[in-house]
Amino acid sequence: MLHSIRLSLFCLIIPSLPFVALAQRTPFAVGTASAAPGQKATGYLEVPAGVDAGTNIPVVVVNGAKPGPVLALVTGAHGTEYVSVIAVERLIVDLDPAQVSGTIILIPLVNIASFEQKVAHVNPVDNKSMNRFYPGKADGTQTDRASFLITKQVVDRSDYLIDYHGGDLDESLRPYAYWGATGKDSQDQISKQMVLAFGLDHIIIWHDRPSDLGASRYLDNTASLRGKPSIVVEAGYAGTVETDDVALLINGTLSTMRALKMLPGAPHYIENPVWLEKTVDIISDGPGIWYPLVKRGSYVQEGMKLGYVTDYFGKVILEPRAPEAGVVLHVNAVPSLKKGDNIANLGVVASKAPL
Ligand SMILES: [Zn+2]
Repeated sequence: MLHSIRLSLFCLIIPSLPFVALAQRTPFAVGTASAAPGQKATGYLEVPAGVDAGTNIPVVVVNGAKPGPVLALVTGAHGTEYVSVIAVERLIVDLDPAQVSGTIILIPLVNIASFEQKVAHVNPVDNKSMNRFYPGKADGTQTDRASFLITKQVVDRSDYLIDYHGGDLDESLRPYAYWGATGKDSQDQISKQMVLAFGLDHIIIWHDRPSDLGASRYLDNTASLRGKPSIVVEAGYAGTVETDDVALLINGTLSTMRALKMLPGAPHYIENPVWLEKTVDIISDGPGIWYPLVKRGSYVQEGMKLGYVTDYFGKVILEPRAPEAGVVLHVNAVPSLKKGDNIANLGVVASKAPL
């Protein structure tokens, strides 16, 4: 399907092809990274100081030797979801501009303070998640200003986008992807081909996404609302960097690039993914000690006990149960629990695959 769509697009843009080819012969710059065709360059997105400190977000441009589209690979919004960071670090080294058609923008670590200080979930500078404040604003706190810059410098200049995540320090997570339909069929078919080419075997169909361009919240949603097919992928858990998890993200990226005709070779599409129609959070209503009875990837029935919570004297105070049947996408990986923490996140299997 992707092939036929791209063929028709190709027919439409034939009159402007010489211009596209010409554009590819000029350097492509993002922040301070400027790469001539066939070159790779490193630099920074410079987030200026404002109501709080500024920061420099590393950026790499791989400008292919041949013309083609622009793909953005963005990771580390949550800087302790290590597998997602390490996979893109590997791609920085491995991607060869001589093999690439088009341009790859790689942002390997959006949330540097989180990574360096080992703070999960948020940017410790302003205590905000760096994947909830898109499209950002020029005069907000550091997360707002960084999101604003990424929207202008990366999203607006890309044709496709992949946002990488995973289980954070306190999340035991099995790999999965998100596919969010926009209602624009041609765009949605391309993003669906991207998520199938990426190859993770559980895919969440992301409904009820913000539709306000000024409050798109998530990075991939910001790109989707601007007409750029985009997906979210997640692998890795609880501070670990397992070879298999890193390989899932690297191989998935290369396969997606092949589907987009940005690398030579055939993509590998996942044939029978488990489509999930929604996710359900189980939230702690107070502090305590968490004892899990399920693991990441466990399939549970409605009403099944997921574990139990005790007070600090060993008395059981809560036995959270599965509100619906589904698969454990992630479960709290550590004994610590406070009010409002996520105990587990279940994926509910869709009755049928999307068309
Ligand atoms: Zn994340």
